[in-house]
Amino acid sequence: MIAEKLYREEHRIFQQTARRFVDQEILPHREAWEEMGTVPREVWEKAGRQGLLCCDLPEEFEGPGGDFLHAVVLAQEMARAGGGGPTFGGHSDIAVPYITKYGTPEQKRKWLPKAVRGEAIVAIAMTEPHAGSDLQAIRTSARRDGGDYVIKGQKTYISNGLQAHLVIVAVKTDPAAGAKGISLILVETDRPGFVRGKALKKIGRKAQDTMELFFDDVRVPAENLLGTQEGQGFYQLMGLLVQERLSSAVRCVCMMQLALEDTVRFVKERQVFGKPIAAFQNTQFELADLWSGLLATRVFVEWCIERHMEGKLTAVEAAAVKLRASEYEGVLIDQCLQFYGGMGYMWETPIARAYADARVNRISAGSNHILKMLIGRELLK
Ligand SMILES: Cc1cc2nc3c(=O)[nH]c(=O)nc-3n(C[C@H](O)[C@H](O)[C@H](O)COP(=O)(O)OP(=O)(O)OC[C@H]3O[C@@H](n4cnc5c(N)ncnc54)[C@H](O)[C@@H]3O)c2cc1C
Repeated sequence: MIAEKLYREEHRIFQQTARRFVDQEILPHREAWEEMGTVPREVWEKAGRQGLLCCDLPEEFEGPGGDFLHAVVLAQEMARAGGGGPTFGGHSDIAVPYITKYGTPEQKRKWLPKAVRGEAIVAIAMTEPHAGSDLQAIRTSARRDGGDYVIKGQKTYISNGLQAHLVIVAVKTDPAAGAKGISLILVETDRPGFVRGKALKKIGRKAQDTMELFFDDVRVPAENLLGTQEGQGFYQLMGLLVQERLSSAVRCVCMMQLALEDTVRFVKERQVFGKPIAAFQNTQFELADLWSGLLATRVFVEWCIERHMEGKLTAVEAAAVKLRASEYEGVLIDQCLQFYGGMGYMWETPIARAYADARVNRISAGSNHILKMLIGRELLK
């Protein structure tokens, strides 16, 4: 199990709670939720009551007062549901930390307790139809009008966009200033002019809604600017990418571990030419290769977790671990699927879901081309 050597007793107790929650509240509903394209709201509030949301928030904000290892434990348990369960990580480990790290005292008081309880689901909206990797090219604007901002534009591929009560929106407050003209603004989703577009159909992660969002002159008070100064958005986004990328790598390792365990079980059971697939030397060699690759990736991820918890993980290390883990996830799951033959192509088989769910990890949290560019730049500077 990932990072187990770092666990304390509280992480083991938390693991039991998370495991029970996934067994009882998520796994029985996976197929129905995949059909719905989302999960019911109540599951968030139930998770909140069990202390499974925003695990690292202190008691001051009604948080469970845990640390990043709690998020790792939860990712491990949630991996068993894959894309058939809710994306708690997108809320707890990616979106809410913007408020925790950069919010004003009032913003923290207003939103963090609700986020912990699952009463406010928070999404982060950077990507636009014509600007993903190149964030400086976003066009959504926020114009100052007296004591308000008026937001106009469009976002796409936004995780939890369907259910979100609050969206942290990347906007241009000064279109002429490049990266220095980007700010993050908190937009409550019940404001006039905020419109959810269609839920996008994806090849995997089918219960995790991914939305288009439209902002048609949405008026919010100036206090909704994240932090106190305009023009900080790009730096705020960059500042949280370390944790986002490490979280992505953690999820990749969890998925690989499950895929390999399932495959080992399968090859021992499935008989071909009068013997189990496990009896062929090719199977043994390939699985040995995959296991050693997984182990190497896991050790790298654990090293990064340790550094992150000490506040030492650098942007280039986070890029490298996400690159390595997501690329190897693609290799491992593809090769595991091959052992299943035709069954591996059927949606009912966990390896088929894992194959589809995993693909996005090479695209989101910084596409792997961009990560290579960052790492290359650092190496050659
Ligand atoms: C399931 C899912 C959930 C998502 N959730 C969110 C979310 O919650 N919030 C959010 O804001 N966004 C979200 N995204 C968007 C995601 O972050 C972007 O898709 C990603 O950043 C890539 O941007 P893009 O799709 O515009 O691709 P583009 O930027 O158009 O890139 C297209 C291709 O060109 C390559 N490329 C781009 N620039 C370079 C370069 N300089 N050198 C070499 N190659 C390059 C890229 O690597 C990629 O392969 C989500 C996406 C998916 C699929």
